[in-house]
Amino acid sequence: MADKKKQFAVIGLGRFGGSVCKELYRMGHQVLAIDIREQKVTEFAQHSTHSVIADSTDEKALQSLGIRNFEYVIVAIGDNIQSSILTTLVLKEMEVENVWVKAQNAYHHKVLEKIGADRIIHPEHDMGIRIAQHLTSEKIVDYIELSDEYSIVELLATNKVHNRSIIDLDVRARFGCTILAVKHGEEINVSPLPDDMIYVNDVLIVIGHKRDLKRFEEEGM
Ligand code: ATP
Ligand code: ATP
Ligand code: CA
Repeated sequence: MADKKKQFAVIGLGRFGGSVCKELYRMGHQVLAIDIREQKVTEFAQHSTHSVIADSTDEKALQSLGIRNFEYVIVAIGDNIQSSILTTLVLKEMEVENVWVKAQNAYHHKVLEKIGADRIIHPEHDMGIRIAQHLTSEKIVDYIELSDEYSIVELLATNKVHNRSIIDLDVRARFGCTILAVKHGEEINVSPLPDDMIYVNDVLIVIGHKRDLKRFEEEGM
């Protein structure tokens, strides 16, 4: 594999942090797994490069783990908002470059933003939006919200667009959306050309204003 392996540390091995840790490790990355509970650390020994018991609010403990050398640190402490905030603060003071934090609510989010968290994640909220999108459309395969206005959707090509070229469908002019890629079985055609064909059951990855994407999904597909 060409891309360089990154170094990650995951603090808090609950359901969210645990999944992040396992998946990174499965992908072949270096992952340091940290939790205050011994039972969690034992459980994750086989799903991480190293797993250690530590209280992440303790600056000295983080220092002795060499946490500042990690490119990414994920703070996935759930219910204890105070510990999450303090951990994030310590990590940013230690100048860890990328600190991604799971937020519990709007207040937590606001504080994390102020103290310099590089990315704030709301798994339940984001997953709720995705599930709602899946439930209400047969055509939507996946959904990524970019902002309040823009998103990326994966749409399943229907018979309506079968055997037609992108230029023929005229998606950009008619709907103001851009097709970023087309998945045909296992193949992915990235930045497709106007002459490229679309077949039923292809997956179109489309970016645009939510209003335009909805129109394309309802009228164009
Ligand atoms: P999730 O919502 O992701 O499922 P959870 O609700 O199962 O998480 P929480 O108790 O909210 O679990 O916290 C996640 C993990 O963070 C726990 O395993 C907990 O032991 C750990 N944790 C909490 N405080 C600290 C701390 N100060 N240092 C290290 N780990 C901590
Ligand atoms: P989430 O993990 O999605 O953020 P939560 O942890 O905030 O959810 P939960 O206690 O898990 O909240 O429950 C979610 C919602 O379901 C709450 O609003 C709660 O009032 C409601 N709820 C729980 N039990 C029942 C029940 N038996 N009947 C109807 N509603 C219920
Ligand atoms: Ca939780």
